[in-house]
Amino acid sequence: MNVQPQSLSILRYPHPILLKTSRPIEEITPEVRAVAARMLELMREARGVGLAAPQVGLLWRLFVANSGQDDEPDRVYINPVLRQPEGGLECREEGCLSMPDVLGDVWRPPTITIDATDLEGQRFTLCNSDLLARVWQHECDHLDGRLIIHRFGQMARLANRRVLKELERSGTRL
Ligand SMILES: [Zn+2]
Repeated sequence: MNVQPQSLSILRYPHPILLKTSRPIEEITPEVRAVAARMLELMREARGVGLAAPQVGLLWRLFVANSGQDDEPDRVYINPVLRQPEGGLECREEGCLSMPDVLGDVWRPPTITIDATDLEGQRFTLCNSDLLARVWQHECDHLDGRLIIHRFGQMARLANRRVLKELERSGTRL
């Protein structure tokens, strides 16, 4: 096992890994399962609703999520693919565990379908029109090195300018 799951922590912007594109996971090994379990733990500790592998320094197409609505179970999404966005773009405030204190409006389609693989290797499909749909899109963005600041409009960019500068000055690890 190359990765020590217990040593993983949430990386902060402007860590360069956050801007890279992740690679598909070819095999669900015990290492992948251990990392996913650790990521769920980190997500809960940080009171987040989702966490993507690049945020813990791994360029793997994997994220974990639990939007906390309707007794939703913790889920692991491996090699996720989004499709069939529906509805006009909706604006909602988003934050990111890798960018503490950064908050801004992001426009996304409200309804979307996701195909992904679970830890048993089973492909599954879900559709959502609520917060979870937004979490999926936010986390899939991470797998392509895209952060909320890249989706911010000018207002949100300006509003967060000072906090971002602060983050850029301080370290890259929580
Ligand atoms: Zn994020």
